Amino acid sequence: MPASSSAAQELLAKLVAFDTTSAKSNLKLIDFVRDYLASHGVSATLTPLPDGRKASLFATIGPSGMSGIGLSSHSDCVPVEGQTWSSDPFKIALRDGRLYGRGSCDMKGFLACVLASVPLFTSRPLKEPIHINVSYDEEVGCTGVRPLIARFGKDLPRPRAIIVGEPTNMTVIEAHKRIDAYRTTVTGKEAHSSLPQLGVNAISVAAELIEEIDRIGAALVASERNDRFDPPSSTVQVGIIEGGTASNIVPKTCKFQWQVRSLPDADADFAPKRLKAFAEERLLPRMKRVADTASIETQHLGGVPAFLAEPGSEAVALALALTGANSASAVSYATEAGLFEEAGCSTVICGPGDIEQAHAADEVVPVAQLDACMAFLKKLAERLRT
Ligand SMILES: [Zn+2]
Repeated sequence: MPASSSAAQELLAKLVAFDTTSAKSNLKLIDFVRDYLASHGVSATLTPLPDGRKASLFATIGPSGMSGIGLSSHSDCVPVEGQTWSSDPFKIALRDGRLYGRGSCDMKGFLACVLASVPLFTSRPLKEPIHINVSYDEEVGCTGVRPLIARFGKDLPRPRAIIVGEPTNMTVIEAHKRIDAYRTTVTGKEAHSSLPQLGVNAISVAAELIEEIDRIGAALVASERNDRFDPPSSTVQVGIIEGGTASNIVPKTCKFQWQVRSLPDADADFAPKRLKAFAEERLLPRMKRVADTASIETQHLGGVPAFLAEPGSEAVALALALTGANSASAVSYATEAGLFEEAGCSTVICGPGDIEQAHAADEVVPVAQLDACMAFLKKLAERLRT
């Protein structure tokens, strides 16, 4: 019989009711988690932002002064604006054995299971500690976990193994791609639309750059193949574009944001270097003949490192033992796992729900997945008991 997830379901309802969209404060949720842990005799350490609007949380159950096992989640979720939901996204709704709500899958479901397991974790002495950490701003570049990681090995213990509970349908994930985000700004020259030859149309130049990005994408598909990933190559994608002021003015500026998602062993600079060469050789000479102030600038906005578990990974072996699976796989979405692995913590990704549900309207986690996660955490507790 799987462990019952009824306590996790109740906690999930409370967690989903906090609107922790990344742009907003997560303090109400963090206070709730801190108070909940305190009610079970577990104290937590917060790492707040300098402006105090958000904080991450770290708590230890069991012996101090030992590395232990980390259970990692993020508190923030993506916006619901522009999405059509069948019910209030911040009020959990149970329909057909599935729990609907923003963050139900990504990734308050895992946090709810971890919190629901605290009474079990504290019920018997542990031979090594279980650490619980909750970050912020995962959805906007995994920035919130970095100040927490910086404390590992200083005033906070560095877990020897970390389980990141992002949605994997409770399968074991040992690798993911890298993300790099860029903004390219085209500066042309304004002119009356009846005299286009006197201007440099920034939107038209941006369109040529975007066509080149698509060609770069095709080159990556043709030159890379790692069937552990879906899709099996690095990918590029333009996400936002803005430019121009009126239909009768040759537009002076156009900006677009784009992303590269690279295989862990790929050259992550391939796309920006090739776009820069295209701009310098094919576009800028023509632009500068009309306006010597014309420019094309690409700015790196941030990134998330790839994740590749170390050979013989302790964390992967632990997750395989807890799930009963015999092999681990790879995914294309990025998580905080690469940052933990870089910080010297053996890391694995394993959590309830399907990543296809993350960020979607009517985001959902099946109750059966919470049951499976509760059973996983119960086995962890049994392994760590004295
Ligand atoms: Zn997530």
